[in-house]
Amino acid sequence: MTAEAAVKYVTEIPEDEVARVSEWINTEEYKEKNFARQALVINPPHACQPLGAELAAHGFEGTLPFVHGSQGCASYYRSTFNRHFREPAPAVSDSMTEDGAVFGGQNNLHEALENAYTIYKPKMMAVFTSCMPEVIGDDLTAFIKNARNKGIVPQDYPLPYANTPSFNGSHIHGYDAMLVSILQTLTEGKQVEGRCTGKLNLIPGFDCNTGNYREYKRILKEFGIPYTLLADISETFDSPLDGTYRPYPGGTKLEDAADSINGKATLTLAPYASAKTFTWVKDNFSGTHVSMPMPFGVAKTDALLMKLSELFGKPVPESLKAERGNAVDAMTDAHQYIHGKKFALYGDPDYLMGYISFLLEMGAKPYHILCSKGTKKVEKEIQALLDTSQDGKGCKIYINKDLWHMRSLLMTDPVDAMIGDTHGKFAARDAGIPLFRFGFPVFDRVNLHRHPLIGYQGAINMISTICNKFIEIKDETCEERYFEMMR
Ligand code: SF4
Repeated sequence: MTAEAAVKYVTEIPEDEVARVSEWINTEEYKEKNFARQALVINPPHACQPLGAELAAHGFEGTLPFVHGSQGCASYYRSTFNRHFREPAPAVSDSMTEDGAVFGGQNNLHEALENAYTIYKPKMMAVFTSCMPEVIGDDLTAFIKNARNKGIVPQDYPLPYANTPSFNGSHIHGYDAMLVSILQTLTEGKQVEGRCTGKLNLIPGFDCNTGNYREYKRILKEFGIPYTLLADISETFDSPLDGTYRPYPGGTKLEDAADSINGKATLTLAPYASAKTFTWVKDNFSGTHVSMPMPFGVAKTDALLMKLSELFGKPVPESLKAERGNAVDAMTDAHQYIHGKKFALYGDPDYLMGYISFLLEMGAKPYHILCSKGTKKVEKEIQALLDTSQDGKGCKIYINKDLWHMRSLLMTDPVDAMIGDTHGKFAARDAGIPLFRFGFPVFDRVNLHRHPLIGYQGAINMISTICNKFIEIKDETCEERYFEMMR
């Protein structure tokens, strides 16, 4: 018996009905019904808060992410990072089950803290919640205080914690909440009157591109600016394979993070993914505080370099000026392949702003812009960005919509390509257009997280990826007589 013959369908649907519905879901009529949908979300391009909290925790030396809640949730976050980075993502869960849901999860938390502290010997554990303890209203503050009083962990052991309810916000908000708590814990009592580390504290926000972190570090090295990168996941999720398993490779050194409160300046580079952190830092950290957008494309990278120059009184290095020239040259060389092309974009607000700036610089149209967890503020800011260019005219923003909405848009008002994460591959396939996987997560391609997207180098990488794909499509689809050596 073949595998196909073994499949027993519950309901037999006639082939012509399947064909009719397949056609119908590509129509304007269906699009209207799809956009009237309210109670159901289909294929949303965002994850839940605790996943973001786990990423923040992975960014610190010797830190074990600790999920207070269900084991299945913890597996979801871990496997998402695992599949995206193709690296282990060590984290623990206190595995709340039915009795925890009824009586509260304090016993689970205490037992798991004791086990994790003894077995995995982390320098810090960062605790965050999944849905279940949030729904039943577990009091994390009291549970952790009780754990210290019972001697389960030493009184001075760093145990930051964050409430990360998944029915609110998305992974970027969980990241932000966890990062604030980690900074609050590590810097407590560390501010010294008159002390200045002379360093920049750089906070990139939720970003799963390890190449971006390395690019930030390289730019700062070129400038000769001493820095502390908070929270640095570049080694955690891109460490050498040399036969030795290290549960905690890389991460920001805890003593550097503690001393960051005495920094010369603090710069956050993803205003939406670090809003709370920035507010807290402004009230508590010494020095200057600046929040800027992610440096995608030339203009935003220029702004970053000029800000660094201003903050540290150093001229922009010649090497970076030359890189700018290289990026402009690469843009000019590739301009003809992207100019006027329409794109559909989806992702986190900070990344979306970056894609839009970059595309407008290239004379392309960010035509359908979808943010599955956005606010009026996000919408207003995107619109303001679109208004800066004539290529922004006619482009539309869709806030709190999902990728099934996006599919309707692609089928009724087509574009040339999509930019986002792996979740969009089904819609892209149905629409017959390429998907550029610049977002998170990317499950179906390798090593993309190693290629920076920010800075001048990032602009060159994006241009090359996009334009070469368009050229490849031309080669694959053109008539024989137009199959040319030169493109
Ligand atoms: S949404 Fe809630 S139940 Fe689902 S993985 Fe996230 S925390 Fe767990």
